[in-house]
Amino acid sequence: MTFLFNSDARRGAVFAEAFAGELPDLPFAMDATTVDPDAVRYLITWTVPENLARYRNLEILFSLGAGVDQFRFDTVPAKVKVVRMIEQGIVRMMQEYVALAVLALHRNLPAYLAQQRAGEWRDIPQLQAAARRIGVLGLGQLGQAVLERLKPFSFPLAGWSRSPRRIEGVTCHDGRHGLEEMLEASDILVCLLPLTEETRGFLNAELFAKLPEGAALVHTGRGPQLDHEALVAALDSGQLSAAMIDVTDPEPLPPGHPFWSHPKIILTPHIASVTQPASAARAVIDNIKRHRAGLDPIGLVDRSRGY
Ligand code: NAP
Repeated sequence: MTFLFNSDARRGAVFAEAFAGELPDLPFAMDATTVDPDAVRYLITWTVPENLARYRNLEILFSLGAGVDQFRFDTVPAKVKVVRMIEQGIVRMMQEYVALAVLALHRNLPAYLAQQRAGEWRDIPQLQAAARRIGVLGLGQLGQAVLERLKPFSFPLAGWSRSPRRIEGVTCHDGRHGLEEMLEASDILVCLLPLTEETRGFLNAELFAKLPEGAALVHTGRGPQLDHEALVAALDSGQLSAAMIDVTDPEPLPPGHPFWSHPKIILTPHIASVTQPASAARAVIDNIKRHRAGLDPIGLVDRSRGY
């Protein structure tokens, strides 16, 4: 029985040390060429290796990332459990990023940066937080965590998910009708949806038109959810006032792409949240212990939903 680590050696060393302490009976390997494929019961990776079929006894395929949209499920046998990364490092970093983005948009930072570049000293009317409504698309582990972090600022908070949720201090919406209700009351919209067939192209002209005029966007989901042309058009027409964008399609953006220089866009290179090796190793070890105890791992992916 072997755990196979398929990523960079620096992270691997952190995992190896944690595994040696917590699961000394489970051989840990970082070089696939040195292991007996039939011994591999657990594999952690960013993307599904092309030769996955050789691991005939694989029980769990762990994603190193919070999302699994980079996995091609059709290449993973149905008996293999697919588990995404749920660990406190990712959660903390996303809380920081979204708090940063929401505050930056709330305090008109993109406009002030443009004014600075133009040598212009001019104040912009400032709304109080209690009058700036925040809507979060996706109420999973990250959506809920960022809402929790935003609570002390007094923004009116709302969120939207597929199934109904109840979160104290947050107006929760679900379904198509719930989406419309939330959009028309969101001055800053945050996208934390997983990438699925249903959410591909979700942030488009039709959606932007449903937001209040002058609303702003924070996009920290996945690149293919955003229609780039529609965003630029909405910013240029004034329907949207600004956007903070962490994920794009493609990544990196090609030279000359309008996002690089658009005065109303703050762009970051997919750094909102990154798996932290020590807490990720802890989470994977806990999941292997759960699996051995006959429990479902935390972060088990429902393949029919795609997340
Ligand atoms: P999660 O726990 O699986 O939560 C996903 C949420 O989205 C759930 O509330 C789910 O609704 C909702 N949802 C999914 N499809 C929907 C649909 N068609 N309609 C309405 N709601 C839908 O995921 P998470 O851990 O919070 O992560 C969310 C995403 O963040 C990841 O998939 C990844 O793409 C992105 N991410 C980005 C970065 C970055 O650095 N930019 C880092 C980490 C993660 P239910 O509650 O009803 O299931």
